[in-house]
Amino acid sequence: MALGFEFTPEQQMIEEVVWRWASSWLEPQMAALTEQDRMPPGLFQELGKIGVNGIAFEEEYGGAGLGYVETLLVYETIGRVSNALAMSVGASQTLCFDNFRRNATEEQKRAILPKACSGEYIGCLGITEPNAGSDAMGMATRAVKTGTRYVINGSKTFITNGTVADVMLFYAKTDRARGAHGISAFYFLTDEVTGLTREKISKWGMRASPTALITFEDMELPEENLIGGLNRGGAILTNGLCTERITLSGCCLGSQRACLELSIRYAQERVQFGKPIASFQFIQGKLADMYTSYMASKWMAYSAASYCDSLTNKVGGKGTDLDRKAAAALLFCGEMGTKVAADAVQIHGGYGYCPEYAVSRHYLDQKLWDIGAGTAEIRRMIIARELLRDNFQSGR
Ligand SMILES: Cc1cc2nc3c(=O)[nH]c(=O)nc-3n(C[C@H](O)[C@H](O)[C@H](O)COP(=O)(O)OP(=O)(O)OC[C@H]3O[C@@H](n4cnc5c(N)ncnc54)[C@H](O)[C@@H]3O)c2cc1C
Repeated sequence: MALGFEFTPEQQMIEEVVWRWASSWLEPQMAALTEQDRMPPGLFQELGKIGVNGIAFEEEYGGAGLGYVETLLVYETIGRVSNALAMSVGASQTLCFDNFRRNATEEQKRAILPKACSGEYIGCLGITEPNAGSDAMGMATRAVKTGTRYVINGSKTFITNGTVADVMLFYAKTDRARGAHGISAFYFLTDEVTGLTREKISKWGMRASPTALITFEDMELPEENLIGGLNRGGAILTNGLCTERITLSGCCLGSQRACLELSIRYAQERVQFGKPIASFQFIQGKLADMYTSYMASKWMAYSAASYCDSLTNKVGGKGTDLDRKAAAALLFCGEMGTKVAADAVQIHGGYGYCPEYAVSRHYLDQKLWDIGAGTAEIRRMIIARELLRDNFQSGR
């Protein structure tokens, strides 16, 4: 058993390159982007230039041929500056394009993935509906086949990147009588369809990451836009949620690390009662707790990513260890992240309550990770289901 927790030289280089870009290009814009709730133009092209879009995709499609550990590392490093934009990058690269890569045909992949890797295309994923959130399989969006085309009606809500996406991957019922076994996955280019409306949803956190309500009204798609096979969408969805939960844990991790670094610096600089507040044991206790939470979260997330990379087929969903590990990684990183961000605000006192201080942004953003990608309650249900299934025989 290898228990080392060191990144390889290649991984260290990825972290350095992304950090250099995030701290020089992104950081100076973040306060304004947050206030205006605006994604920076050219974000994905910038990531394309440093070669981290589709870092887990095969080189023939423009990717780097690496894995979920490296994907997580990229999201963590962006998350040190912006939890929100790390989420947007994850929604595009993992939720949309990685799911697409794992299920599309060779011809479809060649048409879409190189543009996803260069940053020309932004992606989004539509699972959630106004009346089907945690109960995702209860979705009402339907795709009815007429000749060689599908006619789509319904709506998807809280869709990250929804207002700006060029490519959308989504799920719809193709056989209502079959419940979860009657769902299929589809994709389309947003500028090639009619009957699509996208409305921006206003949020108090994760600003700069656009969120949309998307409506399909008699939107027609050719049958070739169905991916992964008819009525195979339920398995694609649950499978995808595993890699989604693991890699999006990086957003929480980056935010935790930023909160810790900013708090250490602030506690050493801020003087009260004639001493830096870092000399007070209440403050020291918080810093120690924040460090411990970050390190434990890091282990949960990277060990789940490394486990996923070690699987040949990378199949998750009901009845797999991957399902439990992925749910546990995001559950832990999310809840620890919420606590770490609250401690960071507390250490900053009144200043932590003001938008000029980045910890206030991390605090508001971090709460999303108790909700998005399946709520904390749903993750606990998954973990318990898998524990009770095999009495934790695997011991992992
Ligand atoms: C900023 C943001 C970005 C998002 N991005 C995307 C995206 O890109 N694509 C996408 O498809 N979705 C996205 N979502 C949606 C997100 O995944 C859902 O909000 C989430 O799954 C919860 O669904 P809901 O909001 O309908 O809550 P509900 O399902 O209505 O849940 C409300 C509460 O009830 C609890 N609850 C529900 N069922 C149970 C149960 N059986 N047992 C115990 N408690 C239960 C929940 O845990 C929660 O606390 C995003 C959401 C947000 C806020």
